[in-house]
Amino acid sequence: MHLRSFLSTALALTLLFVSTGSRATLYAQRRTVSLLLFNGKVFTSDARGTVAEAVAIDGERIVAVGTNAEIRAAYAGARMIDLKGRLVTPGFNDAHIHFLGGGRSLLLVNLMGARTLAEAKERVATRVREVKPGAWILGRGWDHTLWGGQWPTRADLDAVAPRNPVFLQRVDGHVSWANTAALKLAGVTRETKAPQGGEILRDAGGEPTGILKETAGGLVGRVVPGMTREEKLEAINRALAEARRYGITSVQDSISGYDTLALYRELLTQGKLTVRVSEWLDFSQPVAELKRQREEFGALKVDPLRIRITALKGYVDGTLGSRTSAMLAPFSDDPHNSGIPRMSPEQLTSMIVERAQAGFQITLHAIGDKANRMALDGYETVKRDFPKSYWKSSFPYQGLTVLQIASPRHRIEHAQVVAPSDFARFRDLGVIASMQPSHAISDKRWAEDRLGEYRVQGAYAWHTMKAFGVHTPFGTDWPVEPINPYLGLYAAVTRQSTEGDPAGGWWPQQRVTIVDAIRDYTSEGAYASFEEHNKGQIAPGMLADLCVHTRDLLTIKPEEILQTEAALTIFDGRVVYERDVQNK
Ligand SMILES: [Zn+2]
Repeated sequence: MHLRSFLSTALALTLLFVSTGSRATLYAQRRTVSLLLFNGKVFTSDARGTVAEAVAIDGERIVAVGTNAEIRAAYAGARMIDLKGRLVTPGFNDAHIHFLGGGRSLLLVNLMGARTLAEAKERVATRVREVKPGAWILGRGWDHTLWGGQWPTRADLDAVAPRNPVFLQRVDGHVSWANTAALKLAGVTRETKAPQGGEILRDAGGEPTGILKETAGGLVGRVVPGMTREEKLEAINRALAEARRYGITSVQDSISGYDTLALYRELLTQGKLTVRVSEWLDFSQPVAELKRQREEFGALKVDPLRIRITALKGYVDGTLGSRTSAMLAPFSDDPHNSGIPRMSPEQLTSMIVERAQAGFQITLHAIGDKANRMALDGYETVKRDFPKSYWKSSFPYQGLTVLQIASPRHRIEHAQVVAPSDFARFRDLGVIASMQPSHAISDKRWAEDRLGEYRVQGAYAWHTMKAFGVHTPFGTDWPVEPINPYLGLYAAVTRQSTEGDPAGGWWPQQRVTIVDAIRDYTSEGAYASFEEHNKGQIAPGMLADLCVHTRDLLTIKPEEILQTEAALTIFDGRVVYERDVQNK
């Protein structure tokens, strides 16, 4: 016990002894709660940055936070955990994740980190040896920028998989790489035209090379056999195990699919759903269908703090890595290419207006400065032409009327490259910039080539966003990046690769403090899903979702953040994960 807390305990006891006169009376006054954490360093994530020592939890809620003396004088825990000085924060809230896709990625051919084309091919060849001829081989995670930047071809895959259809997603999920067998099954030939918002790469003779960008990937994607119920459940269970391991207690889940909600419910009933899910439906669906889904799900009366439908997720463009992000001016390293907007500005605005009018929160994937502007223009139209829907959103939500929402909290996902004049518009329109710090340290190898020295200064601009007063919840975009939130915290405070490049950080003026980064991973995430009154802080009345860390993130050197792990994950007042750590 620290001397100071010992003294305050002694003082508190003395006062109690004086006032009550007996130890028996002292204990009789203590309320028994289900779980008591003490001797910790409790970062509450509140606005003042309060640090406490102990937390009393009863059932699913936090009942008290304070010094060891205060809490132990007032509460007895059915279970007591001595944190031995460790840091505890609210559980991580991953504000942008593909939960089903992430879990599935653990079951597919993993091409993440393949440093050469040969290595990627070898990983595919390994799977070919394990499956029957004709069986689909699916994978993801390849990154041609690690191999010199040339797009791979179907011939590369045919060499290792002549008898199996192969379909592999790039690390960003925005470009597909198919072999000849897969193209054949999908009926993609030299005559096939690319769908709107997509591109089919062709060789000099006009034959598809096997690279399908953006929506063109769907030409093959639609003939890939869907996941069975069992496969989906396995993927979700794998994802849940990963979340527990990393102290993640809430996820904002990008279009795992309306049907997947039934699986989440099933796991909830079985007591196995160890994250709170805020699900995003597909923005591109017709409004009538979206309303139907919202009504049908609402009628099930699922606890909205466990599973809720929040935003509609749409795509305005592609990615910087694939040069498919929509830019106001061409890429600096590709002067005839300004990327691929998924739709026209008029089309986007009318879809936004229609869905906002129906009371939905909207969130749009926008990477390029043009895509960000298109999204902001759409939100501005809603605010200007339909101020009632924008500012007085009180809509029925699962039987409750949600009041006092000053803004519908529309969001932009990634907000990766933003024109200087557009930062203030995020604030003025109340638009949330949902950002994923690990993207910056993955992309910095080529981002400046793509953007040039001027535009890059408005890229991954977390600090600028904060300076403008914009809400910036953090997430990972798993499986595009690893699910590990410590990697995100590290990226946010260093802007360096995991090897420490460059010294001092890449455009270091955009770094944020560790305190802000933790808030972005906790309280800011709660704000983004309208749940800041229930989670995101360690405070009385809040849900008891907590993470105990193996190291003190607030004081260690930034490089040590990468070695930090979740020692204990507490979800809904229960310990759901405990790492076997030596007492220090
Ligand atoms: Zn994503």
